[in-house]
Amino acid sequence: MAILDRYRNVVGGLTVEAESGNWFSSTNPFTGREWAELPRCGPADAERAVEAAHAAFTSGSWPELTATQRGKLLRRLAELIERDAEKFAALEVRDNGKLYAEMLGQVRYMAEWYHYFGGLADKIEGGVLPSDKPQMFSYTKREPLGVVVAITPWNSPLLLLTWKLAPALAAGNTVVVKPSEFTSCATLEFLKLFAEAGFPAGVVNSVTGFGGEVGPSLVEHPKVAKVAFTGGDATGAHIYQQAARGIKHVTLELGGKSPNIIFADANLDDAAKGAISGIFAASGQTCIAGSRVLVERSVYDEVVERIVAIARSARIGDPMDAGTQVGPITTLPQREKVLSYIEIAKTEGARCVLGGRVPADPALAEGWFVEPTIFADVNNDMRIAREEVFGPVLSIISFEDEEDAVRIANDTIYGLAAGVWTSNMARSIRMSDRLRAGTVWVNTYRAVSFMAPFGGYKMSGIGRESGRHAIDEYLQTKCVWINLADGVPNPFVLR
Ligand code: NAD
Repeated sequence: MAILDRYRNVVGGLTVEAESGNWFSSTNPFTGREWAELPRCGPADAERAVEAAHAAFTSGSWPELTATQRGKLLRRLAELIERDAEKFAALEVRDNGKLYAEMLGQVRYMAEWYHYFGGLADKIEGGVLPSDKPQMFSYTKREPLGVVVAITPWNSPLLLLTWKLAPALAAGNTVVVKPSEFTSCATLEFLKLFAEAGFPAGVVNSVTGFGGEVGPSLVEHPKVAKVAFTGGDATGAHIYQQAARGIKHVTLELGGKSPNIIFADANLDDAAKGAISGIFAASGQTCIAGSRVLVERSVYDEVVERIVAIARSARIGDPMDAGTQVGPITTLPQREKVLSYIEIAKTEGARCVLGGRVPADPALAEGWFVEPTIFADVNNDMRIAREEVFGPVLSIISFEDEEDAVRIANDTIYGLAAGVWTSNMARSIRMSDRLRAGTVWVNTYRAVSFMAPFGGYKMSGIGRESGRHAIDEYLQTKCVWINLADGVPNPFVLR
């Protein structure tokens, strides 16, 4: 039996295993083989991590640091990420099977969040209030919430963690990280950098394990002030309910069924490429996947042909190879789910115009692959158009005119993102106004930035990550009143 690499959690500055002594394994989606082991944590480990985070929030050097010093620590961390980007990207690929090129780009780019929020740390300002009461001075302060639990999914572990960590730490909170049980290794390796950057012990801690075994103890812990979650909408709804019992702050970044809308007046070459990047990049395993492409009827056949032609030539293979364009699905259950949706689409009467199977190439037999799959003649009432597949499966739907496009696009429980392809500027603005989604891209798709707020409408979530206002999600406001007069007036009436 192969010897597996072992990764351990960081709690209160110490490297720790699960109190039970149990482990679970991580499997490489390209080889189908287990390669690492992680502590299988439970309630006792959750307790230990929250206590460590709470101690670091209330005592020791972290609360004593000036905001400028906190910012410097974050910027130092950014430099260390840049130094180690290749190592983290390779670890991510082993864990989640996404392309090395994509993961390297993501890890390098994620350093920018720490630079940006590090810069923002000492620009958190309260204000002196005008007063309607004589001899009274009042001002506001912006203060951190306390212990934040950051729960992340398997598709972009380090980047999505960063979207939470950078603003949470810039605001002065402490954090317990719970990575996905499918992809925890890169996160644990990354957390080692915090000590090197000079963060005090206990400011960032981790707990690995299965959501149902360790999650509730974190979410319900009375010393946890906020849960920042990215994942599926069913898990998100469950966490929201649990957090409500303790009146905790919550941000939720959930799923999507995003429309990518192609008008006849668009540059169809660009639009076809935009459709491809929306669904086959990362093998469709992105919350912002443009999994519904809506095409104006007059150019429908032509656009379907163009998209199929590009997707047919996509190189499926080893995610570490520079030439690979489509990698495996991250988890085995997810591959089963994707294949089952393909069968559902067929029985619903959608026309499969590409893929629909596991690749026949014997070189790919060990990996969890699904061919890039395209369904034409999809009706927006079909399950394939309504439910999040989270895989390389595209539904192409036709529409008559702008009104029809808006109706179909918004006819979904989700509202994470939308794309519009048109050469008509007025139409692009009209569409952007009418689409019920947190992000609208015009003549592009799948762009994000540390400067740009990101989050969902409707069941795609609550709150925003990235952009300067993301820091508000990790702060609360205190109002201070100072009486400048001598004496206390009538104590039985409101002042
Ligand atoms: P998931 O909901 O299954 O798991 C997400 C995390 O929640 C994991 O760490 C898991 O262990 C944990 N968890 C599960 N049950 C829990 C519980 N009871 N208490 C606490 N934690 C619990 O999601 P996934 O399959 O890992 O990720 C895919 C989903 O994430 C998709 O729906 C996708 O759209 C969504 N996603 C959203 C965004 C966004 O920013 N909106 C980004 C990426 C992924």
